[in-house]
Amino acid sequence: MAATVNVNGRISDEQEAVISVFDHGFLYGEGIYETLRTYNGRLFLFDRHMRRLRNSARLIGLAIPFTDNELARQISETIAATKLDEKEAYVRVLVTRGVGELTYELKATPKASWVIIVKPLVEPAAEVYKRGCNIVLVDVVRNHPGSVNPMIKCNNLMNQALAAQQAFKRGAFDGVMRNYRGELTECATSNLFIVKNGIVLTPPVECGLLPGITREFIFETGRDVGIEVGEQVLRDDDLLNADEAFLTSTTREVVPIVAVDERAIGGGKPGPVTVKLLKTFRDLARAG
Ligand code: PMP
Repeated sequence: MAATVNVNGRISDEQEAVISVFDHGFLYGEGIYETLRTYNGRLFLFDRHMRRLRNSARLIGLAIPFTDNELARQISETIAATKLDEKEAYVRVLVTRGVGELTYELKATPKASWVIIVKPLVEPAAEVYKRGCNIVLVDVVRNHPGSVNPMIKCNNLMNQALAAQQAFKRGAFDGVMRNYRGELTECATSNLFIVKNGIVLTPPVECGLLPGITREFIFETGRDVGIEVGEQVLRDDDLLNADEAFLTSTTREVVPIVAVDERAIGGGKPGPVTVKLLKTFRDLARAG
């Protein structure tokens, strides 16, 4: 890993980047984050990521200590200090409660901490897009929205880490979590879509999931090419009997799913709707 890190405005390489053990991000997982990437060196959908970051902050009562423009400048400076070797940049922005006494009292942490991590973006292998990936249904339940709301893109990633680790143990690319009602929500690190009779469907945010930026962009991508994309409550059978399925995330774009729990989806090959959306998504993203 060749990361460059900006901690509260101080840029250094990864070995020198430090944060206090009394930071409540470390002590209590009280923090939020965003993962962005560049296309042709330019941050993709920066404004939408900022909107989601500010919404996450609002949901935990955290004051973001910078304007969007200030953050954009700090990210640019951090990217400029990174050896990218012609690759696009992976950018992770974290904001935490800050350093303070061992108490949940908000007045103990008057100043938020922030960190920007930049490294060369590692995209999934071309094979993953060509052949598709296998996923599994995991038994880790997605956080109840009344507990730690999945709307909050939260640094406390225990829910997703346990789900992903269960999936990896079973040799899968990602794992789908259900909510407390048994409805499908999303994968541990991405949003989930199915295609049935030419219509693209994804669970509504009310099911308890992260409103992915790529997910949102897929609605617009679909509109551009005349593919209907909508929200619908989905259950195991909807996924297992889908014509096609795919997952989306900032760093992985649109990845075809060709097997769930070792059962083939869509004949075990990436389907035409998925392939069209992936191509259109990439064309739009690269055009900026
Ligand atoms: N759901 C979860 C739980 C995630 O961690 C991610 C990746 N950030 C996503 C969905 C996809 O979101 P986005 O398209 O904004 O990267």
